[in-house]
Amino acid sequence: MQKHSAYRLTYALNETGQLVNVDKVPVGNKCGCFCPACKEPLIAKNQGTKRMHHFAHLSGTECDYAIESMLHILAKEKIREAFLSNSEFWIEFEYKSYCTNFAYCKFIHYSDCCESKRQRFNIKRFYDSCEQEIPYDNINRRSDLKIFSSTHPERSPIYLEFFVTHASDLEKLHSGNKIVEICIESVNDILQLAENGIIESNSYDSGDYYELEKDFRSVSFYGFKNMDYGNSHISTEIEFVRYILYQSGKTQCFQDVCNCKRLAKSKASSLLEICIHTSVSFALYEQVRYIGYQKFNIPNCILCKNYVDNYSGMGKICRLYKHLQIPRYENFDTARAKTCHYFAIDQKEMQSVLQNGLKEYHTIFCEQQSTDDIFTLQNEPHSHKD
Ligand SMILES: [Zn+2]
Ligand SMILES: [Zn+2]
Ligand SMILES: [Zn+2]
Repeated sequence: MQKHSAYRLTYALNETGQLVNVDKVPVGNKCGCFCPACKEPLIAKNQGTKRMHHFAHLSGTECDYAIESMLHILAKEKIREAFLSNSEFWIEFEYKSYCTNFAYCKFIHYSDCCESKRQRFNIKRFYDSCEQEIPYDNINRRSDLKIFSSTHPERSPIYLEFFVTHASDLEKLHSGNKIVEICIESVNDILQLAENGIIESNSYDSGDYYELEKDFRSVSFYGFKNMDYGNSHISTEIEFVRYILYQSGKTQCFQDVCNCKRLAKSKASSLLEICIHTSVSFALYEQVRYIGYQKFNIPNCILCKNYVDNYSGMGKICRLYKHLQIPRYENFDTARAKTCHYFAIDQKEMQSVLQNGLKEYHTIFCEQQSTDDIFTLQNEPHSHKD
């Protein structure tokens, strides 16, 4: 099976420890090269036009770390060379300017009340030096590359960390230093970086369901100023779920949008409105309807144990409809529960919902503002990462 060119050993170390390309060395075992990982002698397979030229271990061993080591050394050399030999070297990362209404804005808690832009710098304007394997100033680690200013030593340096399979440890990344962590998968990745500069990957805007993917970027910036809380002109319409309870006991639960300054009660006739700051409404309605009942005690069929899913999956029916002699679907009035002797709530389910509370950030607009604990406007969730 022919391996993909990205996974071929195309560079190796020569006698003096320099990284050299397979096409720049003598043929076969006259190449005088060594494996960058295990240091065994190599042969250069750099003849012919059919197969991609590459190095192989003279002993025939399959060396697991050869390519990883090659990419790591090559990245350090090529990026350093690109930085030093060009008049411009760009870095670019995502910058988020959040709502000034930091204390009250609920949207901010799930990162929606902000404007995002790309920040670009030609770092050659601030730095003139780049060295390999220099220890950090404040922690006992080495960096792959340290970019710094020889004329302005007070400027905090930028450290570059390249990895092929293992990301840097957290102590390094959260040490307060300016660090860019860069995942390298092929020689081509390295050439791209050398040519275009170091550009942070776009973050995924995929909601809560894909949190794992959201955290993965092949280029990540740490310790750079990439956010503020000074944005007073955000006009973005942000999605949330609105639940409304009316005097009749009827309810609505639907997807709504507004910007954070216009978040308000929407219906003059409503008793209770809960704005849940998530765009994922799944299973929320089952929770908020109990909160409405606990507050106002208005019976409605949607709260009743006897109001069940229809077999066909088409909406809900009262399973006592024959006995009660009421219509099955059409003209069915869920407010009839107010006078129905069979109205019954699943107490166990209601208690567990009320005890757990709403996990999502939410804002409550209530007709008779009370001091009940679940109705405080700053109800913080039990488990939600910031
Ligand atoms: Zn090897
Ligand atoms: Zn806001
Ligand atoms: Zn590294």
